[in-house]
Amino acid sequence: MNIVLFGPPGVGKGTQSDNLVNELGITHFAMGDILRAAVKSGTALGLKAKSFMDAGKLVPDEVVIGMIEERIMAPDVEGGFLLDGFPRNVSQAEALAVMLEKHGKQIDRVVFMDAPEAMLLERLTGRLICKACGFGFHRHYSPPREEGRCDRCGGDLYQRDDDKEEVIGQRLEVYAEQTKPLLDYYKALPAFRRLDATGEMPAVYAELIEAVKS
Ligand code: AMP
Repeated sequence: MNIVLFGPPGVGKGTQSDNLVNELGITHFAMGDILRAAVKSGTALGLKAKSFMDAGKLVPDEVVIGMIEERIMAPDVEGGFLLDGFPRNVSQAEALAVMLEKHGKQIDRVVFMDAPEAMLLERLTGRLICKACGFGFHRHYSPPREEGRCDRCGGDLYQRDDDKEEVIGQRLEVYAEQTKPLLDYYKALPAFRRLDATGEMPAVYAELIEAVKS
């Protein structure tokens, strides 16, 4: 099964995706994680991406489209994939449609997750990530047992630079201008499902599973 998950920053795509790919046995491609790994390893594409990410802007299409095509077409994703954070604008969605057709694949579900802006702000500003394993916590809603330390692997927790208040406003603006129009692009498809992501994590997950399987 091939799934596209989209929605505003902070809506919970990453957390929900981790559970979903485990349950369905499919491969998770989180565009933001792929880009952060490229930045960390200092590749040419990573260096190009960094300034856009730090400013809360979208990395140019030609960079992200190439990176995602290479991954979706790898032989080990035969069981299906979940795209989280790609596409993020209509031209990426068009490029995705072309690449899937070229390789005889299709999207089985497109799930749009949404929540009010005040909630997104709260979720983003409290978010903490493990440097070592990438697991996510929240200062108030799911704090680590020991401050600053990952419950799973003991790694150090940090706040993403782009989760600082001065960048979040820009990311939400970019979302409204460039990513939200994907709703019009996808909503007429039979594969489209809309999800209210305002509830607690387990309740939203139950609805996500329902949306994917129905
Ligand atoms: P995320 O982890 O999904 O919040 O993404 C972090 C940052 O990576 C975004 O603010 C963008 O700068 C960049 N990014 C992630 N996905 C894309 C994409 N599909 N197109 C362009 N830039 C992206």
